Amino acid sequence: MNYNWRGAVIRRLLLLIGVCLLLGFLSGYYAWALVLGLSLYLGWNLNQLQRLHAWLKQHQADESPPDGYGLWGEIFDNIYHLQRRDQRARGRLQAVIDRFQESTAALKDAVIMLDRDGNLEWWNLAAETLLGLKSPQDSGQSIGNLVRHPRFKEYFEQGKYNEPLELPSPINDRLRVNFQITRYGNDDHLMLVRDVTRVHQLEQMRKDFVANVSHELRTPLTVIAGYLETLLDNVEEVNPRWRRALQQMQQQDRRMQTLLNDLLMLAKLEATDYPADNQPVSVDLLLLSIKADALALSGARQHRISLEADATLQLKGSEAELRSAFSNLVFNAVKYTPDEGTIQIRWWSDAAGAHLSVQDSGLGIEAKHLPRLTERFYRVDSSRNASTGGTGLGLAIVKHVLMRHRARLEISSVIGKGSTFTCHFAPQQIVSR
Ligand code: ADP
Repeated sequence: MNYNWRGAVIRRLLLLIGVCLLLGFLSGYYAWALVLGLSLYLGWNLNQLQRLHAWLKQHQADESPPDGYGLWGEIFDNIYHLQRRDQRARGRLQAVIDRFQESTAALKDAVIMLDRDGNLEWWNLAAETLLGLKSPQDSGQSIGNLVRHPRFKEYFEQGKYNEPLELPSPINDRLRVNFQITRYGNDDHLMLVRDVTRVHQLEQMRKDFVANVSHELRTPLTVIAGYLETLLDNVEEVNPRWRRALQQMQQQDRRMQTLLNDLLMLAKLEATDYPADNQPVSVDLLLLSIKADALALSGARQHRISLEADATLQLKGSEAELRSAFSNLVFNAVKYTPDEGTIQIRWWSDAAGAHLSVQDSGLGIEAKHLPRLTERFYRVDSSRNASTGGTGLGLAIVKHVLMRHRARLEISSVIGKGSTFTCHFAPQQIVSR
C-alpha cells in the first residue's frame, strides 16, 4: 500500500501546531503552548527512535518489531520485512552451499580450494583420505607444507597446469594420485586429486612385461647370432647355397637385437622420472663425436654434415641419454636424406634456454604425421623404414630423454625440402662454462 506518509506527517504537525495555538489562545501563552506541544512531539519521536535502536541492537532472528504508531510503525515493519527477506535469501543460499558441500563430500575424488598463494581454504572428505588433510587444523595452511614432494612444489610454483601431475600420495606410498589444478576467480586455485593407483599398476605391469620380454629374448638371440656367425664362417664346407639365407638371418637377427636394445632403453627411461646422472655435459664435444659417427654411417652416400656449437654451453643431465637422443636425430637425418644431401647441426642458447637443432635437406614429412611421430612404432612410410632398418622407436626415445631433461621437441618439415628437429631446453638445465 502506497500511503502518503509525507502528507500525513505534515498534516499531523499542522494539527499539533493548531491545537497548541488554540491552547495559547485560551491560556494567553502562545509561545509556551507551542514550545510545550513541539517538545512533546520531539520527545515522542526520540522515544520511538530509541525503541528502534534498542530493538535493532538486541533483537533475535524471529522477534517481531515493537509496536509503533504512524510513520514509526511503518518504519519498524519495513525494517522487519527487509530482515526477513534477507534471512530467507540467506537460508536459500545456505541450502545451495549445503547441497554443494554434500555432493562434493560424496565424491571419490578430492576437491581442494586454495587461495592465490596456495593456502587451503576448503576441501572435501576425499582430500582427507587421499592427502591426509585434517579439518579444521589445516585450514589456512600452505599446500606446500602438506604435500612436500619436490615435484609438486615445482609444479605448483611454475603455474603451468596444462598437464596433470602424478605422484605417490603423501600419506601412503602405495597410493598413486593425480593432481590437476585449475585457476579461477581472483587467481585462486581449484585442485582435483584422483586416485589412479589401479591405472598406474596396469601401466607398471605393461612396462615390466615389455622390459622382461626384451630382456629374456636377448639371450636366445645372442646364441642364434653366435651360431649364425659360425655357420657363415664355415658356409663353404657346409653348403654354399645357404650363404644368402644365412646372411639374411643374420641381418634380421641384428635388427631384432637393435629393437630389443631400444625397447630396453625405453623401459629404463620410463622407470624413473629424472636421469640418475645430473652432471654438466659438454654438448659440443658430444655432438662432435656424433658427427663423426654420422659421417661413418653416411659412408659412400657422402652427406655434407656441418656443426656449429657453442663450446661454453653445457647441459645438466645424463651424457648417455643425451647421446642416445641426439644421435637418433642426427642418424635419422642421415637415413632420410638422399645421397650428398646437407645436414646442419646447431647448438646455441638465448633468453628462452638452450636449443639443439638438426636440419636436413631430406625427404620431408607431411604435416599430418608430425603430431604422431614420437609415438612408438609410428612410421610415416613403412616401405621407407624397411630400407633404413629403423625400429620406429628412435623418436620415442628422444621424446622421453627430453622430458627427463626438461626439454621439448619441435618438428617442422616441408615435403621435398627437408625437416628440422629442434630440442628446446629450459634455462634451469644450462650450465655455462
Ligand atoms: P625409425 O627407426 O623408423 O627411424 P623414428 O622413431 O626414429 O623411427 O622415426 C619415426 C619416423 O619418422 C620414421 O619412420 C620416419 O618416417 C620419420 N622421420 C624421422 N626423422 C626423419 C627425418 N629427418 N626426415 C624424414 N622423416 C623422418
